[in-house]
Amino acid sequence: MDAEASPAASRPTPMMEQYIEIKAANPDCLLFYRMGDFYELFFDDAAVAARALGITLTKRGKHLGEDIPMCGVPIHAADDYLQKLIALGHRVAVCEQTEDPAEAKKRGSKSVVKRDVIRLVTPGTLTEETLLEAGRANHLLALSRVKSGAGNGEPAYGIAWIDISTGAFRVCETTGPALSGEIARIDPSEIVVAEQVADEPDVALALSYARGSVTPVARALFDGTIADERITRYFSVATLDAFGTFSRAEIAAAGAALAYVEKTQIGVRPPLDPPVRDAVAATLAIDPATRANLELTRTLSGERKGALLAAVDRTVTGAGSRLLAERLSSPLTDPERIGARLDAVGFFLVEERMRIDLRARLSGAPDMPRALSRLALDRGGPRDLGAIREGLSTARSVLGDLVQAESPLPAEIAGVREALDRLPADLLDDLDRCLEDELPLIGRDGGFVRKGVDADLDEARTLRDESRRVIASLQATYAEETGVKSLKIKHNAVLGWFVEVTALHADKLMAEVATGNSKFRHRQTMAGAMRFTTVELAELESAIANAADRALAVESRIFAQLREAVIAAADLLKQAADGLARLDVATALAELAVDQRYARPLVDTSQRFCIEGGRHPVVEQALAEAAADPFVANDCDLSPVAGDAGRIVLVTGPNMGGKSTFLRQNALIAILAQAGSYVPAVRAEIGVVDRLFSRVGAADDLARGRSTFMVEMVETAAILNQAGPRSLVILDEIGRGTATYDGLSIAWAAIEHLHEVNRSRALFATHYHELTALADRLEHCANVTMRVKEWKGDVVFLHEVVAGAADRSYGIQVAKLAGLPKAVVARARDVLNQLEASDRKSDRADLVDDLPLFSATVQAAPTTHATPVEDPLRTALSVIHPDDMSPREALDALYRLKAAARTEEDME
Ligand code: ATP
Repeated sequence: MDAEASPAASRPTPMMEQYIEIKAANPDCLLFYRMGDFYELFFDDAAVAARALGITLTKRGKHLGEDIPMCGVPIHAADDYLQKLIALGHRVAVCEQTEDPAEAKKRGSKSVVKRDVIRLVTPGTLTEETLLEAGRANHLLALSRVKSGAGNGEPAYGIAWIDISTGAFRVCETTGPALSGEIARIDPSEIVVAEQVADEPDVALALSYARGSVTPVARALFDGTIADERITRYFSVATLDAFGTFSRAEIAAAGAALAYVEKTQIGVRPPLDPPVRDAVAATLAIDPATRANLELTRTLSGERKGALLAAVDRTVTGAGSRLLAERLSSPLTDPERIGARLDAVGFFLVEERMRIDLRARLSGAPDMPRALSRLALDRGGPRDLGAIREGLSTARSVLGDLVQAESPLPAEIAGVREALDRLPADLLDDLDRCLEDELPLIGRDGGFVRKGVDADLDEARTLRDESRRVIASLQATYAEETGVKSLKIKHNAVLGWFVEVTALHADKLMAEVATGNSKFRHRQTMAGAMRFTTVELAELESAIANAADRALAVESRIFAQLREAVIAAADLLKQAADGLARLDVATALAELAVDQRYARPLVDTSQRFCIEGGRHPVVEQALAEAAADPFVANDCDLSPVAGDAGRIVLVTGPNMGGKSTFLRQNALIAILAQAGSYVPAVRAEIGVVDRLFSRVGAADDLARGRSTFMVEMVETAAILNQAGPRSLVILDEIGRGTATYDGLSIAWAAIEHLHEVNRSRALFATHYHELTALADRLEHCANVTMRVKEWKGDVVFLHEVVAGAADRSYGIQVAKLAGLPKAVVARARDVLNQLEASDRKSDRADLVDDLPLFSATVQAAPTTHATPVEDPLRTALSVIHPDDMSPREALDALYRLKAAARTEEDME
């Protein structure tokens, strides 16, 4: 037994000593320890992995008198197990044998094979196809903080994010309140943050919204002074200025992201693009609550199906799907850039033939950026080279199509054509010439280089295959010579080639062997057979092995040369891949526009928001799939009536009438338009929206210690504190989570605030019909309602938005439709009648009519359209004329003023 295998009773074996040392250096990872064809896990790691993976927990030897728990996963299936562990939030250190076991043996029978951790596998640093989702970017995000970096005493936060599977590298700077929104937009798989920073309230809140796992690291990783040097060293440039101007916070975050990549990849540098700065103002700001509520890339329950992205995604490649997801997550605010994207979609709407051809060419095109990344990290195999070959060949035929375009190409597509044009022609030819059509996943066993590429390889292969034929004829000769027809020549990993006869004929051969004249020599006795060898066979065996080794050596040399050539062209390949992804998105959006009858939106710098015949992109398709009644299109106009204040439209109507759908569809139309897509409407004019706020639906947020009503108020507060004239605000029922009068009052005040202070374009759905009175009193406020028909006591929803206000909610009719017991429905009707009767007596409407307007009670409101109300202090002051007063009268007047001030305080 060698040192690797021998169990020791008290002292750890040398192998265990090695294991313990490596594990101690990686305490936060499960250690995959390579032993032969398995990765083994020991001690607690084994218990954790066995439970997580559902594999058997065994034991191996003893440590300090105790059994050592162990479990293992076979190398060939390791990716599947890794995927499960990473999905469950574990990190894995992969420890390989770094020398040939034969070398170790030379040092003595007790010596241990050298091993080292070659890579840390964490959620944000994956590259394997099986571990990645084709349509989703895999971002690693590093978050830095610079105290008083914002210039106003507030801290600034730097965000850097890297997708090592494609090489994308971006940075931006943001503030505490906007942090959650930015992190939600980037949607990272892993967030690296200094321990102390993670506990700050703004950061803790942002992290609590994030889906990715959080990896706390030492603060030193974010050290700004070495960050600069780290970045310039990584990209081999003299100064960072080569890439643009970055803030201190951005440099610290970028440095930390690179440091973490280096730490996990252990010496191997993935080919990253230089960092690009993402100006925060260039994208439509969407806070995490709004993003989640509007279900942009996944639904509230975390699924892709049912979200906006799934409804509008007609892309045919993984890279295209990732790009579309990114565009929907980060819609633009620059009408010119939006226009350029829309031009590309419009072009393919007209060029129908080309659209169809390009989509056919792109579909099934491989994921070039990810294959490239694996090759650069030396984790790639022949199939990755094959992916580059197919990518290049797709690029060539796509270029052919674009060159033949009859109408001039819009700028976006012309850019793609240039990128494809720059691709080196000889690379595709080399790959095509050298690589077989069908390729193995890994290069270890060879067989991927075509015949005729290398004379040496062909010769070695012929020799190898020739020898195999010689073996076949040898078998026939031996069978004849011995008279044993069933004699076989076989091969296994332990014995190599051998002659095998069944037990029945074994004695006959053994008798000959015993004479000393036989060419056969005994090797092994099995239960039902006996095995022999011959000198001829041994010679042939070494000839085959030599030839096979020679062939493998040539193949791996050719692989290395091709890989080098691919890496040398990496930048051009990436630009081309990016171009193909853009083409995929443009053609897919054109296809969507045709298929779903979408229209080109007009996006400009005005403050209009005028949608004609708008539809909800997800509900519309769901109704069509269910073969239900078609979606009813509706108009929405929030454009300013006069001046620059947007309109507020109050939406009332019955439960189930379609209010929420109407609200959301308008927000989604704005997002689609600014992402550069056509929109589900007959016509849409949108003055660019800078921030989108929504408060729709209410749910407890127990994880953050908030009740339903608290969540509602926190979200409403965020809107009222931040929305401006360029914002679009969607409010669905505020004040519903508390007593009626409290809720009504809050909703009332919130609308007035939106109207007077925020001056945003807003849609406000409510069941408080009292609020509709506001439309008469506020200049920029209007009422619309969802039409219904009553028919024999039941309600029929028409889903049509018309001007006017609803006077009731039909809650009881909806409850009846939902199947509430008849007795409960009847009793509810009685109670409602009684309540309405007593309400009429106390005339609740008076209460509303008597309210002063918000502007009159807030002195700081920038403009006011309200009638002034009487102010006791002002009245008292107006009758005072100091020049005509005696000191005694002045003192009395002062007392009167104090009294008037008290009255005012009491009123407040
Ligand atoms: P509640 O007040 O109970 O929240 P609501 O008025 O917000 O209800 P929605 O949830 O928007 O109503 O809509 C209810 C259902 O009506 C939707 O699930 C959808 O199937 C259907 N619906 C809504 N709008 C339309 C439309 N414009 N055309 C066709 N069907 C619609």
